[in-house]
Amino acid sequence: ETIVLSELAKRMGIKANEMIVKLMGMGVMATVNQTIDYETAVLVAGEFNYEVEKASFEEEVILKKTEEENPDQLQPRPPVVTIMGHVDHGKTSLLDVIRKTRVTEGEAGGITQHIGAYHVQTEKGVIAFLDTPGHEAFSAMRSRGAKVTDIVVLVVAADDGVMPQTVEAINHSKASGVPIIVAINKMDKPDADPDRVQRELSEHGLMPESWGGDAIFVQVSAKKNTGIDELLEMILLQAEILELKANPDKLASGHVVEAKLDSGRGPVATVLVQDGTLRAGDSIVCGMHYGKIRVLQDDLGRTVESAGPSMPVEIVGLSGVPMAGDELVALADEKDARQVSQHRMQKQRSKELAKTNRLSLEGLFEKMQQGEVKDLNLIIKADVDGSIEALRDSLVKLSNDEVSINVVHAATGTITESDIFLAANSNAIIIGFNVRPNAKVQDLAAEENVDMRFHNVIYNVIKEVKDSIVGMMESIY
Ligand code: GDP
Repeated sequence: ETIVLSELAKRMGIKANEMIVKLMGMGVMATVNQTIDYETAVLVAGEFNYEVEKASFEEEVILKKTEEENPDQLQPRPPVVTIMGHVDHGKTSLLDVIRKTRVTEGEAGGITQHIGAYHVQTEKGVIAFLDTPGHEAFSAMRSRGAKVTDIVVLVVAADDGVMPQTVEAINHSKASGVPIIVAINKMDKPDADPDRVQRELSEHGLMPESWGGDAIFVQVSAKKNTGIDELLEMILLQAEILELKANPDKLASGHVVEAKLDSGRGPVATVLVQDGTLRAGDSIVCGMHYGKIRVLQDDLGRTVESAGPSMPVEIVGLSGVPMAGDELVALADEKDARQVSQHRMQKQRSKELAKTNRLSLEGLFEKMQQGEVKDLNLIIKADVDGSIEALRDSLVKLSNDEVSINVVHAATGTITESDIFLAANSNAIIIGFNVRPNAKVQDLAAEENVDMRFHNVIYNVIKEVKDSIVGMMESIY
């Protein structure tokens, strides 16, 4: 167990500098961002009349408590649908027309709020739609491991056919194993050609039933409001096949669809409940944040007491603003929620810290002096093998009593993203000899705080490394 000095000082409500001075008095040299071990923490805290409690704590254990599952309690749940397709093919129009026409009489008085998702009540059942059209939201969720969508409705304009983003949408859906229903839109246009759309889509593996395939096609017009009923029916039919189920009789879990800081209400998040039931007053963990739900509101701005599976709701009461794709879990105990959240925050902080602590040639000598660094790891990328061998030999020879120079990886070719990741993981510095990375790789290096050095004269590489280990590096700033 260790703790970062500044963190310990903060929790004790004292200045980090005071703690550093106190530690110096105890013969311990430490910097603000340094981690100190449990024993030292106890000693220094004792000097300020504090007691340190060893918190051995496992997030998994706490979250597991909520996971008792009884198959008898599973009930059908509504499908969650995302609309995707090429720009201007009618995603927004379709979402709007579905929303407007399917709001039941009683609900019509409610003020339509765009909270990132809505649900519609049809004669045959309820459907939830994520109403951030486009692929960014979908990919953002997927990249964060959140599976929220059950069915993708792929909108293709009948007068335009398959376009690049259509193909992209197909690939996204396939990659996440989500079934597709094709809505051929703009059927009201005189030059609408649904056959062409079907032909083009069948080249991408979406074959209509009439042609021996199993893809569902529906012809619609968002403008003239035709075919919408059939589309909704097909969605519910597909949902039946998927046998979507959840247990409404337990604490809720779900994902964040959208979140923001509201000047009046504080952090506000739209979450899609995927299992269980979320209630006002529940203690929750959401991404790195926690809280007790003060208010639940549906997509018509009405305050509701609870939200069951597949229901999107806006919640108020979180300690901070989560990110789209973050998981939400309700916990029986408020203390647990806070503990999980603090644990995640700490993990995040140590990640950030690892980044700021990453080695650079500039800071090398100082770190060697402080005894923090005993190895200088290098990654060499060069245009030809001969240069690599020459560099490797001369650089390794620079090792001395204070620092050992290691080449963790050397290869010909340009500097790639995987070189950056390797450098980040092995705290290495990259030397590019007669090679340069592209802009994307440079951005990644900056983001990860990885030091890269570019040269085209072997002597200069050696001089630079040599200078840095004897503290004679000329500042380039
Ligand atoms: P998105 O970029 O996919 O969200 O597309 P929009 O919903 O913004 O629609 C793009 C344009 O197509 C707008 O000018 C709409 O009015 C028009 N549009 C959408 N659906 C239809 C339709 O069914 N028929 C016709 N004629 N135009 C449509």
